[in-house]
Amino acid sequence: MHIRKRVLVTGGAGFLGSFLCERLLNDGCDVLCVDNYFTGARRNITHLLDNPYFELMRHDVTFPLYVECDEIYNLACPASPIHYQHDPVQTTKTSIHGAINMLGLAKRTRAKIFQASTSEVYGDPEVHPQNEAYWGRVNPIGRRACYDEGKRCAETLFFDYHRQHGLGIKVARIFNTYGPRMHPNDGRVVSNFITQALRGKPITVYGDGSQTRSFCYVDDLIEGFVRLMDAPDEVTGPMNLGNPGEFTILELAEIVIEMTGSRSSIDFKPLPGDDPTQRKPDITFARETLGWEPRVALRDGLKSTIAYFDDLLREMDDISLGRLN
Ligand code: NAD
Ligand code: UDP
Ligand code: UDP
Repeated sequence: MHIRKRVLVTGGAGFLGSFLCERLLNDGCDVLCVDNYFTGARRNITHLLDNPYFELMRHDVTFPLYVECDEIYNLACPASPIHYQHDPVQTTKTSIHGAINMLGLAKRTRAKIFQASTSEVYGDPEVHPQNEAYWGRVNPIGRRACYDEGKRCAETLFFDYHRQHGLGIKVARIFNTYGPRMHPNDGRVVSNFITQALRGKPITVYGDGSQTRSFCYVDDLIEGFVRLMDAPDEVTGPMNLGNPGEFTILELAEIVIEMTGSRSSIDFKPLPGDDPTQRKPDITFARETLGWEPRVALRDGLKSTIAYFDDLLREMDDISLGRLN
């Protein structure tokens, strides 16, 4: 008899988590999705609810959780600055207490555990592109610190549980990822620019738009997650996962305007504090260890993301105009 792997996904109703749950179900796993719906939404996973191997649990990872599983993907944490700065103390609690609880669970069940860390651990970097050996430059008391330091301390916990208790760990440092099911009001650059362009509103470029980011399409990232989890035990990471293609924010604005055929103008706004000036992953380690690299070009990924937001905005307009019953 085929024994299904039991996989726990925390933050499974979020943007990345919902794609991960879908992928794991397709791979024949039994999936337990845990989420407190802070930034996630049931609509991201309603299409999975009929699957007998999918189970959904409303739970906050800052509280202990006793379940049985073979693997854990720990994604629970608000990811966009607007969301994680809304209640910064809760963000730190989610990162740290959440990591301790999930590591405790992994220790008891001897499950392998994956941590969704972030390029934010590099802060506003002095080296470019960033590789995993770089220790980062983070302001410990700034507005991003609840997230950045929370994620840095979570990495510390993962490596200490690994060294002290022999846990199998996998730490991925995720760079900006985009795609369908991003939260429409999360304030992130891709979702903001697309919704602004589709509504014909001015595109808000912060600063002069010369800061750079690298954008990875969600499908590519999820492939990296699964490959890292399946890699041999000695591959613990931290491992950068992202798309090394680098664009200025102004370039992104221009591409989105062109692809949506929008007449939106560009509105330059003040740059938020601690906004990193450049960010681009060095993915040599992932390429050499997992044979992984992103395949989806920015314009291809934007096409399906724009289509998603186009549908979503129409649906939201229908609701506000009372056209749906
Ligand atoms: P998201 O906000 O869509 O998903 C996070 C999920 O975690 C949501 O469903 C939310 O409700 C849930 N959650 C938050 N606090 C929780 C708690 N205390 N208990 C249980 N559930 C909780 O964001 P995402 O983009 O899918 O990010 C997923 C993970 O990947 C996060 O850990 C984030 O830090 C990391 N990450 C994402 C990106 C990116 O570009 N999307 C980049 C770097 C790191
Ligand atoms: N924990 C959990 N589920 C488990 C086992 C542990 O949520 O199945 C939590 C528990 O609250 C504990 C934390 O994980 O405080 C850390 O566990 P660990 O075994 O490392 O430490 P201890 O139990 O000694 O505090
Ligand atoms: N940004 C922007 N306009 C927006 C939203 C974001 O110019 O409407 C900029 C932001 O200042 C940053 C970049 O786009 O330089 C990426 O922002 P995001 O919040 O998406 O991610 P992060 O800063 O965490 O990489």
